Amino acid sequence: MPKKKMPKIIADSCVGCESCVTACPESCLEMNNDNIASMTKPDKCTSCESCFQACPSEAIKMEEQEYK
Ligand code: SF4
Ligand code: SF4
Repeated sequence: MPKKKMPKIIADSCVGCESCVTACPESCLEMNNDNIASMTKPDKCTSCESCFQACPSEAIKMEEQEYK
């Protein structure tokens, strides 16, 4: 599987503000049923870090991850 730097959401730190969802120019992120941000389109992620910069609660870490 290919790898690239993508946001990793730390569920315990996510306050459900949706800032990362709004910030992503590629619409990669959505809120899940627990109101936690989640990566839904990893293939579209450009590793731009806009989501990381938008998060007010340090709930996003940029990490090298495999994706389909
Ligand atoms: S790194 Fe950029 S493209 Fe990838 S999820 Fe975050 S905002 Fe979207
Ligand atoms: S910006 Fe941070 S706190 Fe807000 S929804 Fe995204 S991950 Fe959660």
